[in-house]
Amino acid sequence: MDEWLEGLEPVVLRQDLKVPYRYSMGATASRFFAEIRDNGKIMGIRCPQCDVVFVPPRTTCGRCFSQLHEWVEVGNQGTLETYTQVRYQTAVHPAVAPFYYGIIKLDGADTGLAHMVGDLKGQEPRIGMRVQAVFKGERKGNMLDIQHFKPVEEEEAAGSRVQRARPKKKVQKAKRRKGEKSRIKVKAKKTLKKKTAKRKPPKRVKGVESRRKKAPAPRRKTKRKK
Ligand SMILES: [Zn+2]
Repeated sequence: MDEWLEGLEPVVLRQDLKVPYRYSMGATASRFFAEIRDNGKIMGIRCPQCDVVFVPPRTTCGRCFSQLHEWVEVGNQGTLETYTQVRYQTAVHPAVAPFYYGIIKLDGADTGLAHMVGDLKGQEPRIGMRVQAVFKGERKGNMLDIQHFKPVEEEEAAGSRVQRARPKKKVQKAKRRKGEKSRIKVKAKKTLKKKTAKRKPPKRVKGVESRRKKAPAPRRKTKRKK
C-alpha cells in the first residue's frame, strides 16, 4: 500500500446501477414458457438416445449431446427431492424470506426443476413430499408464472397416481422383457445412474464384472439372494 494511504478512510461511492436488458430465450425455452403461460402445461423434452426427459427442457442432451426435439407433457405434480430454506432477504430472491426453495421431480420427468415450495400451512417440507404447481392467473411467460409448488392434498394425490403413466409403463415393459422384478430397476436406469451404482458398493462392481464374463441371469439371482 502507498504510504500516503495509511490512516486514510476509503472513499465509498454509493450508486444504483440500472441495467435494463432484453434476453431472447431461444426456441426451446420459449416453447416451455409459452406452454406454461398459454396452456398451463409443463413440457419436457426427451432424449431419443438416453430416453431421459429433461424438465426444464434443453436443446442438447448433456449426456450424449443429441439434439432434442421430442416434446412431452409432464405432470403438474411431482415429488420433492430436496429443499432449503432462505432466511436472508436479498433483492435477487423472488419471494420474501423466510421461504423454501426445492427441487421437484415432476411426474414423467427424469430431472429436477428448481422452484419455490409454499402454501405449507405451517408444516415443514419433507423429502418425498408430493407437490403440485400453483399457476398464477395472469401469466407472462417466465418461471414465476408458476407461483410455487404446494403440497398435494389427499384427493388430488389419488387422482394424479392414475396420470403417472410413463414411469409405470416403462417398468411393465421391463418386467415383460426380463421377467424378474428385482432387476428391472437396475436395467431401467440410465447409463449415468449405472455408473454411479458401480462406484458405490464394491460388491456390486464384482457382480457387474462377473455378469459380463459369464452368462448369467440365474447366477446373479442366487448371488443377490445371498
Ligand atoms: Zn442423451
